[in-house]
Amino acid sequence: MKNYKSSLLIKNGTILTVNPRMDIISGDIYIEDGVIFEVPSSKQTADLIIDASEKLILPGFVQVHVHLNQTIFRGLADDMDVVDWLKRRIWPLEQAHSYESVYHSARLSVLELLRSGTTTAVTMESLNHTEAAFQAVNEMGFRAVIGNAIMDRWETGTEMKGEDMDIALKKSIALFERYHGKGNGRLHFAFCPRGTRNATDAVWQEIGSIARSEKLFIHSHAAENKQQTERLSEYGGSEVIYLNKMGVLGPNLILAHAIWLTDEEHDLLASTGTHIAHCPSANFKLASGIAPVPAMLEKGINVAVGADGAPCNNNLDAFHEMRLTALIHKPRFGPTSMPAEEVLRMMTIGGAKASGLENEIGSIEVGKKADLVLLNQKAAHIYPVLGSNPISRVVYEHQSRDVETVIIDGEVIMHQGQFMNFDENEILSQCELARSDLLDRISEPVRAEIFSKGRK
Ligand SMILES: [Zn+2]
Repeated sequence: MKNYKSSLLIKNGTILTVNPRMDIISGDIYIEDGVIFEVPSSKQTADLIIDASEKLILPGFVQVHVHLNQTIFRGLADDMDVVDWLKRRIWPLEQAHSYESVYHSARLSVLELLRSGTTTAVTMESLNHTEAAFQAVNEMGFRAVIGNAIMDRWETGTEMKGEDMDIALKKSIALFERYHGKGNGRLHFAFCPRGTRNATDAVWQEIGSIARSEKLFIHSHAAENKQQTERLSEYGGSEVIYLNKMGVLGPNLILAHAIWLTDEEHDLLASTGTHIAHCPSANFKLASGIAPVPAMLEKGINVAVGADGAPCNNNLDAFHEMRLTALIHKPRFGPTSMPAEEVLRMMTIGGAKASGLENEIGSIEVGKKADLVLLNQKAAHIYPVLGSNPISRVVYEHQSRDVETVIIDGEVIMHQGQFMNFDENEILSQCELARSDLLDRISEPVRAEIFSKGRK
């Protein structure tokens, strides 16, 4: 199949628009120059026609908390306490990154994200080599909001060395100038202070000021672990109260996790329009807890979803995260909490809103960019379909293996399960080689511990 950009007609699909009325339309979508031009469409011809008979057509998923550079660490940090997980795995491994290892990790991440229907990710990278993540995302036609982790305050006795504010911000500004808005608008930069414990007051205040003047986003972690959250009270109260003092709460801030917050902090998130990234798999695996998402939604907080990093998940699968988001809150909040419509909105338009892209992506509406996913419905885990709601099927039944076609910016990236512009096996084998090199660069005690736990 040729990969045309000028016009594309997708015919005979069941279209889950995720527009404000959550309309479901049977029909065609006509795309011109990467933009949704007509839906439903009566056009008969286009440069490329895709038959979507018996397929569901969805807006591409938007995951708002991912670490592309960590996917190469997958399976190296299982069943560990969060402090050991950070000190004995994530920080030594991130410290050992090279340009190549970040690049191959990001390529593998995008591959996996695409396979589960994700077309946009908001990602926090490591201190160094974030250019490699931008390069991989750009080459693969993916859409992302990316930033280098800023750590100008770090815990002594660990292997993760932070860096002075001037150095960290210089890197951030260089990334902003080089990549923001590039790739036909697919690439975006966001400031990524790693967390309240990892960045000084001066960093928060400075990036708050630059972000406001340049209309940039800030992406960080908050209130993930109970003990860490309690220890942070020495920095001036709970984390959201601290961030309020720093003047950074607002509609351009995404906080991942937000598990251990008070009612007062929920009110602050709601009144300032701050967004939350809910990461259910990671919060379960690291035993962090369960964020009270239905209560946050009730207060009007925009909660979106993300897989977090492969070492704490261990997948980047949007369907896993949607299913968990729908299920895990029901025992506490009741079976009618977190209905499928709400969860699908969180994974699409909610994610777009959290990343400032709600006018461009997140729903299938005229004038929006054509970031679309086609799902095969003819499968044993879906049938029978008569009388069932396709939105419920997406959240409760579909799996990433049902993703047949992925379109970003009007470009067909994957069709009938095949990638159009890159070789999947080559990406897998390059990543395995890069992991071997990476493990050669970490300190001997950590390396020995990893191999003693591994099977080869
Ligand atoms: Zn994270």
